[in-house]
Amino acid sequence: MARQGWAVEERYVDDDVSAYSGKPRPAYRRMLDDLRGGFLDAVVVWDLDRLHRQPRELEEFFDLCKLAGVSKLASVSGDVDLSTHDGQFLARILGAVAKKESDDKSRRIRRKHEELAQAGKIAGGGSRAYGYEADKRTVRESEALVIRECAARLLAGEALRSICGDLNERAVQTVTGSEWKPQTLRRILLSARISGQREHNGEIVATAEWPPIITPAESTRIRGLLSDPERGTNRVARRYLLVRLLRCGLCGETLVSRPKAGGARAYVCAKGPGFSGCGRITVMAEPLEQFVVEAVLYRLDSPQLAAAMSGEPGDPDAQRWQAEIDQSRAELDELAAMYGRREIGLSEWQAARTPIERRVTDAKKQLGRLTRTTALAGQIGHATKLRERWTTLPLSRQHAIVAAVLDHLVVAPGRRGYNKFDVGRFTPAWRA
Ligand SMILES: [Zn+2]
Repeated sequence: MARQGWAVEERYVDDDVSAYSGKPRPAYRRMLDDLRGGFLDAVVVWDLDRLHRQPRELEEFFDLCKLAGVSKLASVSGDVDLSTHDGQFLARILGAVAKKESDDKSRRIRRKHEELAQAGKIAGGGSRAYGYEADKRTVRESEALVIRECAARLLAGEALRSICGDLNERAVQTVTGSEWKPQTLRRILLSARISGQREHNGEIVATAEWPPIITPAESTRIRGLLSDPERGTNRVARRYLLVRLLRCGLCGETLVSRPKAGGARAYVCAKGPGFSGCGRITVMAEPLEQFVVEAVLYRLDSPQLAAAMSGEPGDPDAQRWQAEIDQSRAELDELAAMYGRREIGLSEWQAARTPIERRVTDAKKQLGRLTRTTALAGQIGHATKLRERWTTLPLSRQHAIVAAVLDHLVVAPGRRGYNKFDVGRFTPAWRA
């Protein structure tokens, strides 16, 4: 270096290898070897932090310098005389600062994704998401329509499988052009993305910078619905419109679907292993279902129902109940953890759980009621139109509409020797 009047013996250049990266720096190692061999009497660096970013490296460098009798270290930013304590101190401080900067830098990189998530920015990579263009922020309107339709149908009680069947029949394409599967649709409907929200580690962290396709409240309800553990039991093939809606007039048990020996569909009060009914009620499915559907369609046009459904609870309620469920679940987890740590005993744990679990059940019921209300959205007062379309509706949708109007129907025993449909056997309990 001319300024110092030193002759440059050798240049040691490690291109693009950060001292911090931990990657091997061959030129740096060669320089240390040369120091060790006593070939150098001074080291000049561009900037001290280019030399060392790990204190451990710096100490190794000091040791070598001492060993080799090298006392001069120059840098463009300021010379450090390693033969003095002050010089070594300065080098250490600079090294420590450089290390901290490197640490911060890698933390910054690691945090970048989290910050992006927090700020609702778009994370890089990945394939195009259904509903959005490849830029991940422009809504593809044709697909947004499908998402909104599916969300509404799911909230109205239709099964994912049934919606997928319909989409495939209509030759609606997925993002990859393949057939719709329930898992595919489930993933899309559960994603925070379509409600214009950013998700990080399964939690909604921010409003996103892209526009929503459905509302956040709809998303909350869909999440509540799809994560409901009881949902699995709803998937029983619904060839029977009135499953879970009929009660035995003798023992009060819920009737179950069971075809007669000849294959005709029927509901029975089942007795025997796994059943707790009295076994004394059987009712043919076909005429009863027709009767119930007519009754439901009639109810849909009744002024009483319209009155009961105006004052319909809206999205803020859904959010409130969802928050209640989330809160209670967190409390249950905490209690379980306390029990696990032996901070509370088994009986205390059980006692504390009961009221919280009751809150969860209540909140779920409320959410369920909102979902039933949705099932009827647009149907009240339009029974004629609905009647025309009724047979084309999937069974799960039909069931959702019936269940939205009818709480249950009590079935009395049939009259002996009477083979016609006997309206007198049935006592409906309407919801509204
Ligand atoms: Zn019974």
